[in-house]
Amino acid sequence: EALRNLLLGKIRDVPDHPKPGVLFKDITPLLADPEAFTALTDALAGLAEERGATKVVGLEARGFILAAPVAVRAGIGFVPVRKAGKLPGATLSQAYELEYGGAEIEIHAEDLDPGDRVLVIDDVLATGGTAEAALRLIRRAGAQVAGVAVLMELGFLPGRTRLEAELGGAPLDVL
Ligand code: IMP
Repeated sequence: EALRNLLLGKIRDVPDHPKPGVLFKDITPLLADPEAFTALTDALAGLAEERGATKVVGLEARGFILAAPVAVRAGIGFVPVRKAGKLPGATLSQAYELEYGGAEIEIHAEDLDPGDRVLVIDDVLATGGTAEAALRLIRRAGAQVAGVAVLMELGFLPGRTRLEAELGGAPLDVL
């Protein structure tokens, strides 16, 4: 609870970003605060260990910032999931639906091994579409899902429900 208050107190609400009517949750004040960023990293690294994760996947772009230090702290690997067209090697691609139109994300499948248990990390769970697509990529790469961990869940969106099937019983942790 103290951790939650420390972290959530460092998140800035930005109205009308990136477009009118959206209240954007901005984690940059948290990242700029060494006490909060370290506490977040330690909490996520603890979760990764609890879940038996052998790799963390970070979702572009803020998920990279959160997941990379977790990988180092937990002594496990980091694998990026990127927007289509950014990764240079052989990729698996997954298209998914967004509120307006679609999107596509990719992973280097060779960076995951069949025995890997993967924890997906991102800042915000909104509709759940991005995390759901990432879980599909992990399964298609032949690895196991250890869970999804996010800093915040936008409660008015059905992200948790959308993720349920693809989680297949693995936990969704919201700090
Ligand atoms: P979803 O696919 O709808 O769950 O959207 C999640 C993706 O959009 C994540 O990668 C988030 O980083 C990003 N996102 C959506 N809303 C916000 C927000 O308010 N703040 C920061 N990121 C957001």
